[in-house]
Amino acid sequence: MSKRKKALTLFLSLAAAFTLTFTGCGAAKGGNSNSSASLSSAVSSAANSGTQSSSAAEPAAASSSEAQPSSAASSAKASSSAASSKDSAASSKEEAPKTADTDVTPVTMYTTAGVNFREGPGTSYGVIKKLNSGTEVTKNGENGSWARVEVDNQKGYVSSNYLSDKKPEKTDYSTGQPVSGTTFVKKAPGECLIAIDAGHQGHANSEKEPDGPGSSVMKAKVAAGTSGAASGLAEYQLTLQVSLKLQKELESRGYKVLMIRTSHDVNISNAERAKIANDAGADAFLRIHANGSDDPSIHGCVTACQTSSNPYNANLYSACRTLSEDVLDCFCAATGAKKKYVWEVDNMSGINWCTVPVTIVELGFMTNPDEDLRMATEDYQYAMAKGIADGVDAFFGN
Ligand SMILES: [Zn+2]
Repeated sequence: MSKRKKALTLFLSLAAAFTLTFTGCGAAKGGNSNSSASLSSAVSSAANSGTQSSSAAEPAAASSSEAQPSSAASSAKASSSAASSKDSAASSKEEAPKTADTDVTPVTMYTTAGVNFREGPGTSYGVIKKLNSGTEVTKNGENGSWARVEVDNQKGYVSSNYLSDKKPEKTDYSTGQPVSGTTFVKKAPGECLIAIDAGHQGHANSEKEPDGPGSSVMKAKVAAGTSGAASGLAEYQLTLQVSLKLQKELESRGYKVLMIRTSHDVNISNAERAKIANDAGADAFLRIHANGSDDPSIHGCVTACQTSSNPYNANLYSACRTLSEDVLDCFCAATGAKKKYVWEVDNMSGINWCTVPVTIVELGFMTNPDEDLRMATEDYQYAMAKGIADGVDAFFGN
């Protein structure tokens, strides 16, 4: 039983490893030397990232698969310890390793699956956070089958079984085969329909709908959203301002664009928005939102997609993960915003109902006064629109 579980876990890990993508947007592509910082910051876990004010889900809990061989009990413990540590400094409590590490010349490596980043060289040590598949790490020591690595200036350990010195390639999600170079499924702008949903609307709709096809979990059709701590803007206003600029930007690049809404006076549920994009056969669906947190210091961009085990549309995981990576990378390159991470989550109606590649773009935190005021400016809104459009270009290899 545990052997079978182990084999399944390994299989899932390998499958996950195939979904990795790297940016094709100009700034990040040209400057690979800085990818260490940007990639590692993309994978910060629930522990040091802002949680969504609109959702109880924690990113660490949402990404369910434990790549490392470990029992259900230890994985539950790991995830609760990760969730309870409020920030990355929690890793400072150290346990002495069982044996001394061997120092090695620092070398850049990549995780080949979602793996636990632990305080010591063994599964008995606490989990600092979970690293996404494809995270760039610097290995500087060894201890048995464990590698001592640094991620985002944090020291810890990961199982050497899940490290590779090769940067993962993109995968063609229609065939599951790696695509050489950095080009994803190439499709010219004129052949692409991009659906844009400006998140929320003038009035929230607290009526309920299932959070996915056939689901018994009911969620509000349209939540109220967050609002600007300093600007006073409502999230629905900001998302439409940016979405309209994004529409123009994409159209100027030759894409066909479908706007889910162009005014605040609509009443369209999250599931209905997905169905509109589905029925139109959108090649990519961008759901534009802004974030909120109880902690006003938290800022930066997050994109979201489903997990690889989503019960409704796991078949789109690879495409959505790629789209989310590309948009996050390019958004941050264009705006200078802090690159947080791709959040894999399975309780978002806006994702679960989609049958086309989708990403949720959480532009920034409206609860952070600086970021809020910046996002309210025309200049920064154009930069955000450009960054998202660059991500679309990268996704389609344009
Ligand atoms: Zn929102």
